[in-house]
Amino acid sequence: MNQNMHLRLLQAGQPGRILAALVVTFLLTAAGSFSAFAAPQGTLDRVSAEGVGGWAADDASDTPVSVVLVAYADGTMNGVEIGRGTAAQERTNPDNPAESGPHGFLIPVDWESLAGNTFQIEAYAEENGTRTRLYGTLAYEKPQDDATAEEAPAGETYVGSFTTTAYCSCKKCCPSGSSLTFAGTVPTAGHTISADLSRFPLGTKLRVGDTVYTVEDCGSAVKGNVLDIYFPSHSEALQYGRQTADVYLIGG
Ligand SMILES: [Zn+2]
Repeated sequence: MNQNMHLRLLQAGQPGRILAALVVTFLLTAAGSFSAFAAPQGTLDRVSAEGVGGWAADDASDTPVSVVLVAYADGTMNGVEIGRGTAAQERTNPDNPAESGPHGFLIPVDWESLAGNTFQIEAYAEENGTRTRLYGTLAYEKPQDDATAEEAPAGETYVGSFTTTAYCSCKKCCPSGSSLTFAGTVPTAGHTISADLSRFPLGTKLRVGDTVYTVEDCGSAVKGNVLDIYFPSHSEALQYGRQTADVYLIGG
């Protein structure tokens, strides 16, 4: 009931309708305060990589309140349920006796499994199939990993995590006895690399760590995500052993 309606009724000079309007106003006020008393109340007040927390309680009983989290991803209008829990954790707030007691909740959320990057989160207390919105809306943004291996520098393309092995020109490493690479070049440390030629043709430049190598060789054991790095001596090759490295294609 608003002021304008009262005003209009007064101007019309109809005392009976004014009285009716006042009664309706009173009933609406009474109904409003009754439902506010009976419905669960609570607040959404924290969000982190682990989940969403707050408190919810039902004035009418000591039964813990069920809480449902709903999120809207990337500004969309479609709310998706992202978690459920029970408000039953002990919590104290001197400023609000209603939330003090076993009414806190922290509902785990697996953000990575959710589509989207930014989320507007709402919470509802659920009781007898009826949902009551808890106070507050929270915002969460998935952390952006700037240092992921997949993020390649300009001019390079990340091609994957590779097993890197080492070889030299000795008979053990090269039974063929050839002192030249498959490409016909003289193998050079810090430059020559052996790769799966079906994936990286001769001449392909690949960066492993801080070194840019050129594919000049191949080997029966060098298939798929394996690279064999040339070393000038067998002992250095042995010392390198077998490692795992992120590999980037130059000029890809
Ligand atoms: Zn060797």
